[in-house]
Amino acid sequence: MTALTLPAAGRGAGPRLVVDLTAVAANVRLFTERATGELMAVVKADGFGHGAVDVARTSLAHGATRLGVTSIDEAMALRAAGIGAPVLSWLNPVDTDFAAAVAAGVELAVPGREHLDAITRRAPGARIHLQLDTGMARDGAAPSEWTALCRAARLAERRGLLRVVGVMGHLATADVPADHANATGRTRFAWGLEVARGCGLRPADRHLAATSATLTDPLSHHTMSRVGAGLVGIDPSRTTSLRPALTLTAPLVSVRRVRAGTGVGYGHTWTAPAPTTLGLVPLGYADGLPRAASGRAEVLVRGRRHLLVGRISMDMAVVDLQGDHAEPGDVVTLFGPGDRGEPTVAECAGWADTIEHEIVTGLGSRLQRTVRGTHEGRCATSSTSGHLRRVR
Ligand SMILES: *Cc1c(COP(=O)(O)O)cnc(C)c1O
Repeated sequence: MTALTLPAAGRGAGPRLVVDLTAVAANVRLFTERATGELMAVVKADGFGHGAVDVARTSLAHGATRLGVTSIDEAMALRAAGIGAPVLSWLNPVDTDFAAAVAAGVELAVPGREHLDAITRRAPGARIHLQLDTGMARDGAAPSEWTALCRAARLAERRGLLRVVGVMGHLATADVPADHANATGRTRFAWGLEVARGCGLRPADRHLAATSATLTDPLSHHTMSRVGAGLVGIDPSRTTSLRPALTLTAPLVSVRRVRAGTGVGYGHTWTAPAPTTLGLVPLGYADGLPRAASGRAEVLVRGRRHLLVGRISMDMAVVDLQGDHAEPGDVVTLFGPGDRGEPTVAECAGWADTIEHEIVTGLGSRLQRTVRGTHEGRCATSSTSGHLRRVR
């Protein structure tokens, strides 16, 4: 073991995550063309890790008319950022402060009687979307409870306590367009709409499709599509070319030569088969680099792919440079759009036996974030750490 070189002072700004809003804008425009109804931009989980406010503003500037989030907290963060567009929140415990949401003009999904009762009692004036379980056995009212829910909602509406503005469902297998469960889900949704009508409800927003169904199944579109993953370049149906929006890089911290037989990292899960050059990458699973990708993940250094060897640890990983020349401060690209031969998020997900969604929503808060492009598409950059950007 020889020649541990240290980085020159001032070089390398640490790990960096670049969010390309021009990519988000291009994806949004594609979805506004494909959706036969309105486009709701789903910006839950901090906009799938891309920045909820940035993805929301970009989506609204390029044709989306609504926003969708999981919790009321996420909805309130959009309002706090000055976004006044319609927002729907669909997953909240029954004792949530629904009144605050209603005061902020946030629409609420109602999955059952308990939520309906809580909202009529504590948050009069709510605009609600009744949520039907169209085949996931997860959220939404079971078909056996649907008729009673619709009747109760209509009663509350007639008393002036709320307005039923929407009915929503969600498909379990839309990423596999040929799966017969899609037709079953569509049929159940159509039945749910008929029951709602029969109860005297007139929901203007009827929405079932998310990313995959919007791309592959026009019969599922109804009056609106709720699209999240697709906005940030993820297509679970693998039918459409979307533009990835994230690039993750880090400078090499150090470079060292090692002998054949040198064990690398915790547990010595990899041993150098021959003399080689190793680079130290200051990114680990705390930053969202999945430990499950140890021994499989590739990175780009000086235009060439190299393997991460040994275990990915909390803060760092080691790249086998295989004798290629590299210096401390050289940029290592973990993933990007793939234009320069770098891995994509899809490849990273494959190496970790997971899906792209989990990679992009699992990126750590200590990454330096840079946003490229503006919501309207003009060119500019701004930079903050993850947490600062999130609360702004
Ligand atoms: C996350 C979510 C969406 C968006 O799904 P994508 O496949 O990411 O477009 C739509 N609807 C509901 C209810 C969701 O939870």
